[in-house]
Amino acid sequence: MSKQKVTIGHVFKTIIWPRRKLLFIGLFLIIISRAAGLVPPWATKPFMDDILVNHQLDKLPLLLMGVTIAILIQAITSFLLTKILSVEAQHLISVLRSRVQKHLLRLPTRFFDNQKSGALVSRVMNDVEGVRNLVGTGLVQLVGGVLTAIISIGFLIHINALMTLFVLLPMSIFGIITLKAFSIIRPVFRERGKITAEVTGRLTETLNGVRVIKGFNAEQQEIKVFEKGVDQLFQNVKKSLTSTSFVTSAGTFLVGLASVGIMGLSGYFNLTAGEFLQFTMFMVFMIAPIVQMSNIGSQMTEAFAGLDRTEELMNIPIEDDGTIRTIKIGAIKGDMEFKDVSFSYEEGKPVLKNISFKAFAGSVTALVGTSGSGKTTIAGLTASFLNPESGMITIDGVDMNKVSLDSYRSQLGVVLQDDFLFEGTIRENILFPRPHATEDELQKAVRAAFVHEFTERFELGLETVIGERGVKLSGGQRQRIAIARAILANPRILILDEATSNLDTESESFIQDSLKTLMQGRTTFVIAHRLSTIRQADQILVVEDGQIAERGKHEELIERKGRYFQLYTYQARI
Ligand code: ADP
Repeated sequence: MSKQKVTIGHVFKTIIWPRRKLLFIGLFLIIISRAAGLVPPWATKPFMDDILVNHQLDKLPLLLMGVTIAILIQAITSFLLTKILSVEAQHLISVLRSRVQKHLLRLPTRFFDNQKSGALVSRVMNDVEGVRNLVGTGLVQLVGGVLTAIISIGFLIHINALMTLFVLLPMSIFGIITLKAFSIIRPVFRERGKITAEVTGRLTETLNGVRVIKGFNAEQQEIKVFEKGVDQLFQNVKKSLTSTSFVTSAGTFLVGLASVGIMGLSGYFNLTAGEFLQFTMFMVFMIAPIVQMSNIGSQMTEAFAGLDRTEELMNIPIEDDGTIRTIKIGAIKGDMEFKDVSFSYEEGKPVLKNISFKAFAGSVTALVGTSGSGKTTIAGLTASFLNPESGMITIDGVDMNKVSLDSYRSQLGVVLQDDFLFEGTIRENILFPRPHATEDELQKAVRAAFVHEFTERFELGLETVIGERGVKLSGGQRQRIAIARAILANPRILILDEATSNLDTESESFIQDSLKTLMQGRTTFVIAHRLSTIRQADQILVVEDGQIAERGKHEELIERKGRYFQLYTYQARI
């Protein structure tokens, strides 16, 4: 992944500007709120000097009323602010999450080979959270704070210019320190998202693979890996904490220094008690936003770091952006041809070497061979999950590389070994490729795949919930659901990865029968392990070290007494 830096300009254009109306309303509210906020400090002087010292009690009711109204205005505006901007920020977060997830799903399958799913979850869910601080009250608070600071400076100069200088000097130093600190912290925050994603990813894997881990007694090792990850996270937080706490302490110290200066100077300039108090109050109003800025600054830094990572993901090209794959194929017949196709996952390590074969519409092609020979890779190419490095794959004579993925995959069905069933009812799982299929179509698929054979025994039938929180199904039952799903999808091209695990004989015969129905009339590629499937195949391709070592029908290949014969007799012995 390339390192991408999100610029302020980019963020402004894509995130801030489209929300300018809301942000302007926010700004308007904050100006009112801050202006109202200046009333109480201003009121200290007349209160001290006129009312307390000079006993002009007639002024008191007006003063109290003024301050009360100001406080009320402040309360209402800050309520509205949070309501408008925070809600918009949360809305933006959900929009961004959807956008990232959408992009993620359009990335090539190869991308997912090298990614932990838990890490990607963290990218989608956590990385965009930061915008809360950009659109939420953070940005507006910052602007409002700066405004208050400027107005306060005006008042301060009005009271005493020289004393104001005394306050401004340490505060400028503080400002410089803050800016410097944040340029240091940004990469630390950036790193944090990465570490979090790593650790979350590993944890998800650990939990998913808990059987293997326990089976190999590898808990200790996993505990160590996790501890290390968590410690990395801790070190990262520690680093940023040092910087942020340094900024805060520097702030406190410099503010203290300014106060000492003010105390001395107010004696020297002979200020009245009211003037001193007023000056101090305005000083607080000027300093508060500057200190607050360090807080908001770290939020902004976090937001930018998150956006950096999101941007990185969004910049990975999707598998079909419609520019190269321009041919939308209609209903296909299903003739497929590999012409001199080579493929490698890593440069210089070819996995498939100059493979050529034809699969006629409606025929069954069985891929057999030892593990690692390249069968899955061939299946992946037919599914357009992978693209040939050289050579060409054609579908009904059209170059697959130019075919729009949507138009092709809508006519494709895949049944994989460990098929993906999700949390939900059996009905939902079968309907998944065609949610709007009729009840009749569904029932046909259910019967053809012998799913009814076991669902009829369930109290809730097809409405039975399966998955983590539901009924646990046997391997054979899961497969039958996957087959029913493929039958319902009614694809022209079918890719089948037969399960290697042994099923009980009854399940086995159900599955054989349903597979037969499923393959009927479709161009099928099957990574075959069952002899019954292989015998029925129109052609068998014996894949050996990325090449087709032998091809033909079962009887022919047996007669030839070559590689297939060896494989077959070996399996028969088992
Ligand atoms: P089969 O299905 O016959 O067991 P595969 O097509 O899965 O074989 O694998 C063929 C070769 O490609 C193997 O050597 C395997 O290690 C390699 N391979 C498979 N998938 C990947 C991948 N995602 N990245 C790198 N190498 C891979």
